[in-house]
Amino acid sequence: MNSDLQHEYLKMMGVQQWVARNSDTVDSHTGIAVAAPAVEQAPADTLPDWQTLEAQVSACTRCALHESRTQTVFGTGNQNADWMIIGEAPGADEDRQGEPFVGRAGQLLDEMLFAAGYPRNDVYIANILKCRPPGNRDPSADEVACCQSYLQQQIALIQPKLILAVGRIAAHKLLHTTTQVGRLRGTVHHFGEQEIPLIVTYHPAYLLRSPLEKRKVWEDLRFAQAVCKQQFAG
Ligand code: URA
Repeated sequence: MNSDLQHEYLKMMGVQQWVARNSDTVDSHTGIAVAAPAVEQAPADTLPDWQTLEAQVSACTRCALHESRTQTVFGTGNQNADWMIIGEAPGADEDRQGEPFVGRAGQLLDEMLFAAGYPRNDVYIANILKCRPPGNRDPSADEVACCQSYLQQQIALIQPKLILAVGRIAAHKLLHTTTQVGRLRGTVHHFGEQEIPLIVTYHPAYLLRSPLEKRKVWEDLRFAQAVCKQQFAG
């Protein structure tokens, strides 16, 4: 996308300006803390194929959420994606439609990804939980534990170059930390034995409530672009 068009998109989204990061901050070896992941990647030799995994998820009764869901929300997008976007859990729209991030927050996420050169169909989008917690409450520890192998297997199948954790729940569960999102931003964390670079940003639902923070998410996306570029160069 040319920079004028990109500028127009950002203006439409209410991103008032962005400041290019010093590419030095991209270096994961310059004093950057690496948080320990909560879960390791699933071993490649025990991985099911996509169809089998999706069927397992849609039949899942491991936790009580299967009683209240309309349907499971497996994940969507490019199974060979460079970027994997991981959110928290389906909301009402996602529960109805069976796809992650399709409500207002999802539309904003799509717009920002598009402006960063990663349209929705190019990335893979999934959640920590595959079923909607009633009333959109936070996932319980038990629900996360029941669901985590599905996400682990999705990550292992895709082997993304970069994981973008959107929001507090995704960041905390993937990095096994309780540090605030604002403090996790701007750092290259790593996930799993393969040390997949993981970047944390705010949840788009938060941006709908606090539009001035869009600029920070834009910075995070630029940071993610730079990290990915550095990986390809190295
Ligand atoms: N919020 C999320 O974290 N994931 C979705 O799929 C929708 C809203």
